[in-house]
Amino acid sequence: MAGNFLARLEFLIGPDFLDLRRELTEVYRSKTARRLAGSVALVLFTIQWIVFLGGLHNDYDDLIQLHITSEQVRVTERIHSSNQDYQSLPQQLFDESLVGIALISGSDKLLLQAGDTGGFSHGQRQLTSANLVIRSQWLVQTPAETLTAIAFIDSTSDVMAIARSALQLFILALVTSFIIAAVAMTGAFKFFIHPMECLIEALRKSREESNGRAPQLIEIPSRIDLKPLAVEINNLIEGQRKSERQVKVKQQYLEFAAHHDPLTHLPNRLMFEDSLKKIVHSATADERQFSVFLIDLDSFKFFNDQYGHLIGDKMVVEVSNRLRTQISDVDLIARLDGDEFVVLQQDVNEIDSIEKVAERIMKVIAEPYEYRGFTLKTAVSIGVSRFPDDVLISQEEDLLGEEIVNNAAVALQEAKTQGKARYQLFTEKMRSNLTQRIRLEADLKIALEQGQFEVFYQPKINIHTKQVAGAEALVRWNHPTQGFISPEDFVPVAEETGLIIELGEWILRSACFKMRELQQQGYTGINVAVNISAVQFTDGNLLPMVRKALSDTQLPPELLELEITESAVMHDPAEVIRSLHQLSEYGMKLAIDDFGTGYSSLAYLKQFPVDTLKIDKAFITDVSSDNDDVAIVEAVLGLGKHFNMKVVAEGIEDEDQLNFLKSSGCDVAQGYFISKPLNSDQYSQWLKRWPYGAEGGTGEKVVNIPELRTGTDG
Ligand code: C2E
Ligand code: MG
Ligand code: MG
Repeated sequence: MAGNFLARLEFLIGPDFLDLRRELTEVYRSKTARRLAGSVALVLFTIQWIVFLGGLHNDYDDLIQLHITSEQVRVTERIHSSNQDYQSLPQQLFDESLVGIALISGSDKLLLQAGDTGGFSHGQRQLTSANLVIRSQWLVQTPAETLTAIAFIDSTSDVMAIARSALQLFILALVTSFIIAAVAMTGAFKFFIHPMECLIEALRKSREESNGRAPQLIEIPSRIDLKPLAVEINNLIEGQRKSERQVKVKQQYLEFAAHHDPLTHLPNRLMFEDSLKKIVHSATADERQFSVFLIDLDSFKFFNDQYGHLIGDKMVVEVSNRLRTQISDVDLIARLDGDEFVVLQQDVNEIDSIEKVAERIMKVIAEPYEYRGFTLKTAVSIGVSRFPDDVLISQEEDLLGEEIVNNAAVALQEAKTQGKARYQLFTEKMRSNLTQRIRLEADLKIALEQGQFEVFYQPKINIHTKQVAGAEALVRWNHPTQGFISPEDFVPVAEETGLIIELGEWILRSACFKMRELQQQGYTGINVAVNISAVQFTDGNLLPMVRKALSDTQLPPELLELEITESAVMHDPAEVIRSLHQLSEYGMKLAIDDFGTGYSSLAYLKQFPVDTLKIDKAFITDVSSDNDDVAIVEAVLGLGKHFNMKVVAEGIEDEDQLNFLKSSGCDVAQGYFISKPLNSDQYSQWLKRWPYGAEGGTGEKVVNIPELRTGTDG
């Protein structure tokens, strides 16, 4: 029915009606609009109705009054024209409205009572009548007397008239309330509710889509212009997005910094290890192969010392750029340490392909690099380890990555030992060496605890007088199952593990004790030389440790000589010069060991408060046949003379070598030709038997010494 009506209306009004209808439907659908309209309509209707009711009441009074007045006029006229025949009055008077009448004479006599007079009873003056009958009383002046007329008037027609008016007003109030409410609702909907709903909807959508992050800029599809509101909201959002972006950029930077090397921007060790873990995992699952190339710049420390750290950094960046751009077909490049890079290539496992990659890397890096007028060159050594060939697959997967890098490091070390600027693949032999080394490390700790070390002494003689000049203390490890192990095998391990600090202190104290013992026996002019490792030198505790050893044994400092290798001295020359001065000021003698094998800068040499240069035995061995070695030995002797240093030749194995050194002006000789290293007792015996005596005295003056024994001499 309603549909029919709307269809007809639509037909009449045309397409505009469609819009109107859509709008009204929209409005009607809005719960807020409906509620608002209901409230407005109710309020309006109530107000109108109260006003109308007041008016109706007045209208009713007026209507009744008019009715009464007209009946009074009619009845009065009839009474006048009745010639006092009052009984005839009812027939003439009664009509629809006048239903009863009573007349009372001036002398208060009831002249007439007719029709419906309810319970009227003259004398009691009361009237009870039908509900809608009204009693009206007035005086009528006749020529004879003054009468009291009482008329009973039916007011039904008046009530009906008022009821009709009331109904009309009710409908009017209802319709006007409805129309006003509808208009108000439409307006409110259009200008307030709809935009608000659009805004809320847009915000909700934006929140849902943003998924907990700063929302996207919102669009408010409203029919009225919400631009200023949208602009404000979007400004707010933009502000939040901006700060979110800043946080994100910061996070990305921190993330990048945590996983990349700041100088070259290559992935750092952390990131490499992470990636390697993933590659190991997928290679294990897919049975694929890969190779790791550990690349280390050769003599980079020397390069840094020569050109300075700034150019050293430039070189590192250049190497990383070359790796990145020219070896770009590999899967991963990272910088692990100062001058250490790593390249990982998947699906390369054949020796041929590995060699090609390694050679390419070496070639690319060896190209000269022009920087600010300098032509810089560097070379690299490479250690290669293959997966899965070089790892023990029985290991936990987590440890495989570490193992493959360790293996490459071992191969790299081998390449360095072999003479640098080369590559080396990891081999089974290296693995067994590695295992042996790990075992050695564990055994070293036990050896220290169980006192398996012994200090041997190799005599040194004045090459001209042949008198004993002193001895070099050399540590020996008497391993319970492997017998004597060479210090060349275990000292580097002790240095790496830090055990050399404890071991070195024990050696020094033992040597000081032995020397004090000999001094007490009358050998007052000989000294003892103790080898000090670079680790002890940089430890920072060397001077206090030496001072304590000297004071505990009461050995005069000048009878102790500390031997520091040339490479240790050049490790950090400025720092070394400071330490050497402190030691020298305390009174000890200082020697540079293995001189000629390292890279001593002669410029530094004059700053070192050194008393002795020890020519490395490598130059002595062929001194009688190799002209180059002769030149080196003579150069060292010349240097020693120039700087007023004593020169010791070690490793003299025959008379020719001794004679050559003697004639060249060397001061002190040490080597198997004079004596092999001897244990403490053997050294004491040897001293007694040495036919040329000792410098400063020959002994035989034994005094009490046991109180000097300390718990540290094993
Ligand atoms: P180094 O300080 O240069 O010691 C000299 C080495 O040459 C000793 O080897 C010695 O036995 C050996 N030698 C001496 N004369 C001859 C000879 O005529 N022919 C040959 N072929 N060799 C000779 P050793 O005792 O095996 O020590 C090797 C290296 O281990 C030492 O070289 C030193 O660098 C280190 N070392 C030895 N003892 C200690 C120590 O107590 N502390 C530290 N830090 N290092 C030590
Ligand atoms: Mg030495
Ligand atoms: Mg030496």
